[in-house]
Amino acid sequence: MILYRLACDCGHEFETWFQSGRAFDVLAAGGELTCPLCGASNVRKALMAPRIAKGGGTPKTPSGAEISRPDDTNIQIASGNPELVAAVRRLRQEVKEKADYVGPKFADEARKIDAGDAPDRGIYGEATASEARALLDDGIAILPLPRLPEENN
Ligand SMILES: [Zn+2]
Repeated sequence: MILYRLACDCGHEFETWFQSGRAFDVLAAGGELTCPLCGASNVRKALMAPRIAKGGGTPKTPSGAEISRPDDTNIQIASGNPELVAAVRRLRQEVKEKADYVGPKFADEARKIDAGDAPDRGIYGEATASEARALLDDGIAILPLPRLPEENN
C-alpha cells in the first residue's frame, strides 16, 4: 500500500491509499479518482515545493510558509477570490523561475542537498505524502505548492 497526497482542479488536497503506484496510474487514467470535497474527477499527485534552507544560512530559495506536519498543509483555494488566486499564482511563478524542477526525485534530491551531496538550491517536484512526512521528520523543510484551476492538463 502506498499513500499519495492528491490535489483536484480546485486546489483541494487530500490523501488516499493505493495498492501500488501502478494502481494509482490505472485509476487516474480511467478518471475513477474523485475529490472527496467537491467531486471533481481531475485528480493528480500534489506537487511539493520548494525546499527551504534551514539553519543559520540565508535561504536562497523562494519560500512560503514553513510547515510542521503534512497534515497541516491542506490548502483550499477559493477560486472566486482574485487576491488569493493571485497570491498563489505569484508563489508558483516564483518557484518555477527560481527553483529547479526535479520531478518525482524530489525526496531524493532534497536529501542530497541536505547532506551536501548536491548543490544548495531551491527545488520543486512531486513527492508522496509518506516521502514528505519522512523529509519533515528528518528536519528537511518543504512545503506544498498549491495548484491553480487553470493549470489542469
Ligand atoms: Zn476538490
